[in-house]
Amino acid sequence: MAFVTWRVLYNKMPTDEKIAKLGYTIQPRCYCCTPTSTTLETSAHLFWEGTYAQDIWKIFAAPFGLQVGNQQYSHILLQWWNHRYMNLVTSFMARVLPAIITWELWRSRCASKYGGEAPQSRRSEKLITANLVEVVRQKFGKLQQQLSWDQLQKLIDQPMVHRTSKLVRWVKPPPMSYKLNSDGSCQEGNSGAG
Ligand SMILES: [Zn+2]
Repeated sequence: MAFVTWRVLYNKMPTDEKIAKLGYTIQPRCYCCTPTSTTLETSAHLFWEGTYAQDIWKIFAAPFGLQVGNQQYSHILLQWWNHRYMNLVTSFMARVLPAIITWELWRSRCASKYGGEAPQSRRSEKLITANLVEVVRQKFGKLQQQLSWDQLQKLIDQPMVHRTSKLVRWVKPPPMSYKLNSDGSCQEGNSGAG
């Protein structure tokens, strides 16, 4: 998946625009939107500017508080990666989701072009979520396998647990006073002091 992201970033995906540049005659159309665009397929259209791409990015961006506009692909990646998130799981999800979304946009396009599978945002949402759940499970464990995006996004708003530490030191008692020190240990009802 990261490899596809890298290729999109450097405009190296074999879209119709690229194939046409090699001299082949291509019927201009896209394989993602409804109604179908009649302009020659480009990476920009397929991965971030087209209606279908925008719909998919919006489904996943909204719970993270991210906006979807007409930014360049590199700006989209930076926006997802540099945003401040509430917890480590959210931060991890935001780092991997752009690659998973990009992969699904390409898979959906190829299934449409070569397999006649009509693109459906609900299907793409489901496949992206399944991939996301798998990588989050591998990283953090303890996650059910069959989570929907509605269920998974509830993790996003949970704040990180902050632990604070307090320095404790021994203070000498005033003259003619005694201090009883205890280590505070207690086992099976018996405690000790020293
Ligand atoms: Zn399209």
